[in-house]
Amino acid sequence: MQILDAKLLFKGSFQVRSKTEKIVIHHSASDINTSINDVHRWHQNRGWIGIGYHYLIYHNGDVYKGRPEWAVGAHAYQDAAHEANSNGIGICLIGNFDYQRPSDAQMKELLTLILNIRKRYPNLPVIGHKDLMATECPGQNFPWSDLYAKLQKEVIEVDLEKWMIEEGQTALKELTQKGLVNNPEQWQSEEKLVQAVPLYLLWIMINRLSSYKGD
Ligand SMILES: [Zn+2]
Repeated sequence: MQILDAKLLFKGSFQVRSKTEKIVIHHSASDINTSINDVHRWHQNRGWIGIGYHYLIYHNGDVYKGRPEWAVGAHAYQDAAHEANSNGIGICLIGNFDYQRPSDAQMKELLTLILNIRKRYPNLPVIGHKDLMATECPGQNFPWSDLYAKLQKEVIEVDLEKWMIEEGQTALKELTQKGLVNNPEQWQSEEKLVQAVPLYLLWIMINRLSSYKGD
């Protein structure tokens, strides 16, 4: 995915985050034309080194990097028991979702971004700022059930794909060992088994395996 860099200047250095346990979603609670430079300036006016979020998603779906993904954030802190600066990645969607809904482009890019982050931090839970402390953020109109349904679907598809690759590799190994496949290189060289094996092919392989009588 494309992540834009606004080349923000921070007034200080970042701290390395020692643990990563969640993704926290925010809204900017501002006009849809708010820019990353606006948010950066607002956060500097609070005495912070710069924008507190790790990512920002515009109304048109443009995704910007804020703080480096590995850095301690400044986006969710009430007290030591209610905070995620030390263990979370903060994503902010521009807009005020107490009054509007995020755009389709924003939600599409949010989903892509979450899946992208999960390549580096597998299975990271996604929550709202409101789940940590007393706030409405990311707003009453944020479509949680829609987001969770889409994430669940992706999880199932990724798991199924992983299962199909593993089963295909196991089946090929066994078929080769039993002499039922004499050109396993052809499968491997064409990279068929680093992709998901279509279910009908798995079925053929399993059938051949099960009908093999041995010697
Ligand atoms: Zn928030």
